Amino acid sequence: MSDDYIPCFFHSDQLTFKPRYEWAFGERIDHPETTARAEGILTALEKDGSRYDVRRPEPLPEATITALHDQRLLTLYKAAKNDLRRGHTFYPTVFMHGEGIESDPSNIAHAGSFCFDSGTPLSRETWNASFWSASCAVSAADQIMRGEHPIAYALSRPPGHHATRSSFGGYCYLANAALAAQHLAAEGARVAIVDIDVHHGNGSQSIFWNDPQVLTISIHGDPTHFFPYLTGFINETGGPAASNCNVNVPLEEKTDGQAYERALDRHVFPRLEAFDPDFIVLAAGVDTYERDPMGDFTLTTEDLHRVGERIGNFGRPVTAVQEGGYYTAHIGRNVAAVLSGLHEGYLHAKGRGGG
Ligand SMILES: [Zn+2]
Repeated sequence: MSDDYIPCFFHSDQLTFKPRYEWAFGERIDHPETTARAEGILTALEKDGSRYDVRRPEPLPEATITALHDQRLLTLYKAAKNDLRRGHTFYPTVFMHGEGIESDPSNIAHAGSFCFDSGTPLSRETWNASFWSASCAVSAADQIMRGEHPIAYALSRPPGHHATRSSFGGYCYLANAALAAQHLAAEGARVAIVDIDVHHGNGSQSIFWNDPQVLTISIHGDPTHFFPYLTGFINETGGPAASNCNVNVPLEEKTDGQAYERALDRHVFPRLEAFDPDFIVLAAGVDTYERDPMGDFTLTTEDLHRVGERIGNFGRPVTAVQEGGYYTAHIGRNVAAVLSGLHEGYLHAKGRGGG
C-alpha cells in the first residue's frame, strides 16, 4: 500500500455543465454550484503535486448506476441531453403527484416527477457531467477497495448526496457517495458513510434506509430552519431491517469548530466504533466553512483540517467524495485541509507519524 500521496479523480467534462441561475424563495439568483468550485479545488491539488495525484476516472458501467438508481432518472437526463437547446437552462414546472399519474421520463415536460426542489436545473450537459462526477467517486472507491491507498479523493462535481434513488435535487443528480459505498460493499464489506456537508445527506439516508450493511451518519444544520427541511431529524434511525443504521446529528446555527468536534465525539465516533466498518466514505462538503454563503456554521480552515484528522485517526481507509462548498475563493485550501487532515490522522492511527 502506498500512503505517501492521495490519488484524486477528476474529468474535464465535469466543467461543461454550467447552471446559470436558480429560484430561491421566488427570487432568481446566480447559481452557486459553479465550475469555479472545481477549478479552485484543482488548483489547490495541483499546487501540491507531491501529496495529490490528479487522474482521470474510469468510465462507470451504466449497470453500476442502475443497480442503485431508477432507470427513469437516466432516461430523463438523456432526454435533456438530446432535446434541450444549447445554453438552455431547464427548470421543471409541473409537479403532479398521486394515484393514476404516470410520468414519462423521455418527455422533459414530466421532469417535475423526478425532482424535489427548484434549485436543480437540467441542461444538455447535465448527464455527461454527472456521469463523470459519479465515475470519479467509484474510481476513488476502487483504489481503496484494492488496498492500494488508505485515502482517495473524488473531485465530484456536480455533488451527489441529495440525489435519491429516483429523484434529483439540491444541485445533485447522481448519488456519488452512495455509488462509492455500493462499490465498496459489493464483496460483503461493512461501509459507513460519514456526511460532513452542512446540509443533511437525505439521498444517502434514503438509499440505504433499510440496508444494515451500510451505516449512514450525517452531521448538519438543523432542518427545522435549513435545507432540505423535511429530513435530517434525530428520530430518523433506519428501516425495519436496518434499525439504528441511520444517524442524524442536527446542530444549531453558528456551530463552531469546538462544538462540532464535541458533536463528533458524542454522536459520531461511538456509532462508528459500534458498527466497526471496514471502509469509510466521507461525503466531504466544506460548506460548514465560516464564510460559506450557503451554510450557517462557523468552522475555520484549521477546524476543517481537524475534522479530517479526527476521521482519518479512526484508522479505516477513507474514500472522500466532494459534496458542497460554495465560497470559491477558499474552497481549494479548505478541501486540501480536510484531505491532509485525513492523511495525517490515518498515519497517526497506524503509528506512522503525522499529526
Ligand atoms: Zn451542502
